[in-house]
Amino acid sequence: MAMNKQIPEDVVDQVRKANDIVEVIGEYVQLKKQGRNFFGLCPFHGEKTPSFSVTQDKQIFYCFGCKKGGNIFTFLMELEGMSFSDAVKMLADRSGIELPQFTNERSSMSKKQLDLLAAYDWLAKLYHHILRYTKEGQEAYRYLKERGIDDKSIEVFHLGYAPFMTDFTVQFLEEKGIQRPFLIQSGILRQHADQRITDPFAGRVIFPIRNHLGKVIAFGARAINQQEPKYLNSSESDLFKKNRLLFNFDLAKREIRKEKSVILFEGQMDVIAAYQAGIKNVVATLGTALTDFQAKLLKRYVDTVIICYDGDHAGIEASYKAANLLQQHGCQVKIAQLTDGLDPDGYIQKYGPQSFRQKVIQTSDTYISFMMQYLKKNYNLSLENDLIQYIQAVLREISRLESSVEREYYLRHLSEEYNLSITTLLEDVQQIRKNSNNRQDKRRENRYTKNNTKSTYRVNHKLLPAYQNAERQLIAYMLQDKAITVRVQKEIKASFQVEEHKIIATHLYAFYEDEDTPNVSMFVERLADENIRQLVLEIAMLPIQDDLSDQEINDYIDIIQSQSQEMALIKKYQQEQKLAEKQNDHLKAAQIAMQIIEIEKQLKSK
Ligand SMILES: [Zn+2]
Repeated sequence: MAMNKQIPEDVVDQVRKANDIVEVIGEYVQLKKQGRNFFGLCPFHGEKTPSFSVTQDKQIFYCFGCKKGGNIFTFLMELEGMSFSDAVKMLADRSGIELPQFTNERSSMSKKQLDLLAAYDWLAKLYHHILRYTKEGQEAYRYLKERGIDDKSIEVFHLGYAPFMTDFTVQFLEEKGIQRPFLIQSGILRQHADQRITDPFAGRVIFPIRNHLGKVIAFGARAINQQEPKYLNSSESDLFKKNRLLFNFDLAKREIRKEKSVILFEGQMDVIAAYQAGIKNVVATLGTALTDFQAKLLKRYVDTVIICYDGDHAGIEASYKAANLLQQHGCQVKIAQLTDGLDPDGYIQKYGPQSFRQKVIQTSDTYISFMMQYLKKNYNLSLENDLIQYIQAVLREISRLESSVEREYYLRHLSEEYNLSITTLLEDVQQIRKNSNNRQDKRRENRYTKNNTKSTYRVNHKLLPAYQNAERQLIAYMLQDKAITVRVQKEIKASFQVEEHKIIATHLYAFYEDEDTPNVSMFVERLADENIRQLVLEIAMLPIQDDLSDQEINDYIDIIQSQSQEMALIKKYQQEQKLAEKQNDHLKAAQIAMQIIEIEKQLKSK
């Protein structure tokens, strides 16, 4: 991850100061304050308990699990696969800073990806223009109006219409500098046997699909006449992966945070209808079942996911699968059910936004009540045997709830509905939980015995020799304090014993020659070596005191100095010992060996 130095450092620093790391990362990861730091689930490795931390005063992040760390720029580079200059640009945009034009800047994207972005960007503009302002677009415009979509939504979602005009689109795009073979190869346009080039979406209303950064990377297209199939999506590309993307996620992000919940739909039309009704924490899958990737993405942002799929049979089955998946990822799942087999868009059309909000979203079922309903369809509850099996299936679901209050709530409900003893139900659930805990414990044991590198690492930490701990502590203070650094530079220079610490100290001395104020975020940017950078971030996360006394600094310095003197002494004796052996003076060699052992003993007792 080489840093791009084409943007002047003072501009980079201006952008850094205008964007708080907690806010920016907070748009991707649900962060909770714990002491001085914020913690959340690491977006770089799978985990169930948060070990990803962000510190506001140092403006850095560090994961204690996978050890990834960095500043606001590296976070975006790693997560979004951006180049350094792209990350700076995005954050400048976000904070309203205008960047001067830089020559020779390199983007992280390939030529092909840039061409794709350009093609979709121009096409979206063209289609939108045709829909709004031309004769060809009139029918499609009327169609959208009939479906209740207003002008504002047409603007926000940049809806458009692809006209039936042979060669028109290709000429338009060629004028914008995008090559014909590329357009055909990437499936944006279609070439026929007679050499005609047509638009595969001709005659359809166009719904631009934006990535999570708000760039158009594909289209959804809906037939307005009798064309088949009714819906079409652009083919997948380097930039467009259906199972990793959620429709409208870029616009919904902030709303999801604000509302502390997200509503998940199946259709793009549902999103637009809800958005228009003022419900904006809404996203949709793109014609596929919810994937693991998408569930993880949502969990990173929010705890509560409200599934609102079509009210027909297929919709209920899909709700069941999505609910299960989200529950496994630790989400609080709710299921909003629609009556009469309607889809959300149709419901809003028929009953209005207020009814949708109050009667569908606000009264959505909890995961367990949905499951109690859903599981019924597999059994004939008038048969005793079926009833027992059904109860057992429900108990298994209830036993997965973490809260004992919730468990008891549903068990009471079950006991009343089927006239069963609450004590027996409680016992059954306890038994199921005990069994599954045992299984989990076994799995955990296996994991530790198979792969214990992380746990031994933690243990090692506590057992670090005193001088190593002193070096780490001192560096932690140096990262936060120029005066301490200047003092350390005078007194111990580079005589840290651990090679990496020596390197860090040297870099820090150089850093404070240019800078008056400590800035860990800026400092790590100047480190080319990934391992050193990781170590700096790890050390920066060590808890330190605000008011460190001179005496304490002296103590650290003393420990390091005496270690270094004694190590020098050992080295000197070792050379003398070798010399004595060469000269066959075994007695002298043995005496020196004794001296070395004596010093080593003293070192160990410290
Ligand atoms: Zn991690």
